[in-house]
Amino acid sequence: DTFVDLCKGPHVENLGKINPKAIKLLNVAGAYWRGDENRQQLQRIYGTAWETPQDLKDYLARLAEAKKRDHRKLGKELDLFSTDADNLGGGLILWHPKGGFIRHTAEEFCKQEHLANNYDLVYTPHIGKGKLWEISGHLDFYRENMYAPLDIDGQEYFLKPMNCPFHILIYKSQLRSYRDFPLRFAEWGTVYRYERSGVLHGLLRVRGFTQDDAHHFCRADQMPEEIDFVLKFCLHILRSFGFESFHAYLSTQPPEKSVGEAAQWRAAEKALEEALLRANIPYDVDEGGGAFYGPKIDLKISDAIGREWQLSTIQFDFNLPERFDMTYIGSDGKEHRPYMIHRALMGSMERFFGVLIEHFAGAFPVWLMPTQAMLIPIADRHAAYAEKVAAQLKAAGLRVEIDDSSDRMGNKIRKAQKQKIPYMLVVGDKEAEENTVSVRLRSGENLGAQSIADFQAMALEAVAEKRAL
Ligand SMILES: [Zn+2]
Repeated sequence: DTFVDLCKGPHVENLGKINPKAIKLLNVAGAYWRGDENRQQLQRIYGTAWETPQDLKDYLARLAEAKKRDHRKLGKELDLFSTDADNLGGGLILWHPKGGFIRHTAEEFCKQEHLANNYDLVYTPHIGKGKLWEISGHLDFYRENMYAPLDIDGQEYFLKPMNCPFHILIYKSQLRSYRDFPLRFAEWGTVYRYERSGVLHGLLRVRGFTQDDAHHFCRADQMPEEIDFVLKFCLHILRSFGFESFHAYLSTQPPEKSVGEAAQWRAAEKALEEALLRANIPYDVDEGGGAFYGPKIDLKISDAIGREWQLSTIQFDFNLPERFDMTYIGSDGKEHRPYMIHRALMGSMERFFGVLIEHFAGAFPVWLMPTQAMLIPIADRHAAYAEKVAAQLKAAGLRVEIDDSSDRMGNKIRKAQKQKIPYMLVVGDKEAEENTVSVRLRSGENLGAQSIADFQAMALEAVAEKRAL
């Protein structure tokens, strides 16, 4: 009857502008109006149009590659995590033993790096009184992302959507002096934020997640150096996980409403920009795109197939120090306000794991793998030798398993390869006699026979250097 155009455009003037050989319909799916499952269902038709048939072909190839890497598919195949909308609730993640091991290993590494760089690790509760969220302002400007309050002894408590107010309470638990700075509080803090059910997506859009959160507090004269440090630290950690290509977005003071003095904004923006220049990171400036309380850098990485993912954020805050009346005693004996900087590095463990799975297509670097080498005895009579090799490699600190199933060798290799286990060590009569292992990589490459010591050295080097293989 009446055609309502739901599309924002832009539109082509006529269909003649579209090359019929460069267009393809991809998919049909039901979608709820505005992502709300209580509203009407719509039919959504997905299609794609390109300048040339070659562009279309390239795009479809990228799409197929992305599908192979889909973290929800690999999460199931590799038994890393699951969700259960029916029994548990949407957007809540169950980390299975293998996914849990990878997360633990990643967190352990990061926590050690934090401690080595003068961060303090703190722990804070999952709930806080309404009063706290009133002071922080979250009940005014963030309420639609927060869950309904709990009643405890007639007082309202809220699940935390952020860790910041708790870290501020730690700051305020004692008198601070200019000599205490910089202060760096870090927490793997689990937060809960409301997302519409229609937008939930695997590990990438969830309702409960653990941020690798930190808050930096410092004096004005230390601020540029602190920004320089925090950007370098973010890059160091992300590079350790195999990300090499970065792009930053610098968001500056919005023209309408903002808090803080103009001079502070300029100093903060300058520090962020100079840190990017020094770190040699390409960036775009989103002029006026900052939050009302301070400028920020968003750090994006490009994955193995060229997709950009937002991970780290370095965000100034001129608002919370005022609202919580945070002070320190300066060298002049007077009270001053500290600079406050929010920092999420991986963003959240859930989202980071999703990106990691898609980047490596499940073939994580050796140091992160729950099982690093699978010993494959050719026949039962080689089991004792396999045990001996496994014991030696385990003693050297490698994570080794033995496939003692009754499967044939070819099957065992395929099984281990499917689990993306980096090294498959085949042992038979010849290997047992010569004290060697026949090494195959998960990439399919066959390295042939190596002495146990040589293999051990190669694997330990891959672990130490955080290499893929
Ligand atoms: Zn924060």
